[in-house]
This record gives sequence, C-alpha cells and structure tokens, in this order.
Amino acid sequence: MRRLASPTMKRAARNPPKRLGREERERMCTRKRRYSSQGDALDAALLAGVERNREAYFCPICRQWHLTSA
Ligand SMILES: [Zn+2]
Repeated sequence: MRRLASPTMKRAARNPPKRLGREERERMCTRKRRYSSQGDALDAALLAGVERNREAYFCPICRQWHLTSA
C-alpha cells in the first residue's frame, strides 16, 4: 500500500503538456498553429468553442504560443 508519490518526483515542477522527446515536440510545433500571445491562443480556442479542453502554453521552440490538444 505504498501509493504516495516518491519524493524524487518533486523536481518536475514545470510539466510540459505531454512527455515527449525533443523531436516529437518540434514536430508538434511545426504542425500546430502558432499564436503570438497567450491571449491570441485563448481567443482562438474560444472562437473554436474548445476553450474548456484546451490550454495555451508557451512553446520554447518557436517562442510563440500553441494550444494543447484535447
Ligand atoms: Zn512552437
């Protein structure tokens, strides 16, 4: 019955949307639409009616914003 998170898990403070390798992230980046700001990304999600299951995140690869996929 040891189901508590181990203390070593603590260092993952900033979780990326998914655990992907760099290549996969770059591929996702090139496939995804980019937004110049968080507001733009959220507006786009709002317009598409998907703001409840999408989140905007800053992409370190292109230094713009993407929406998470649902
Ligand atoms: Zn990107």
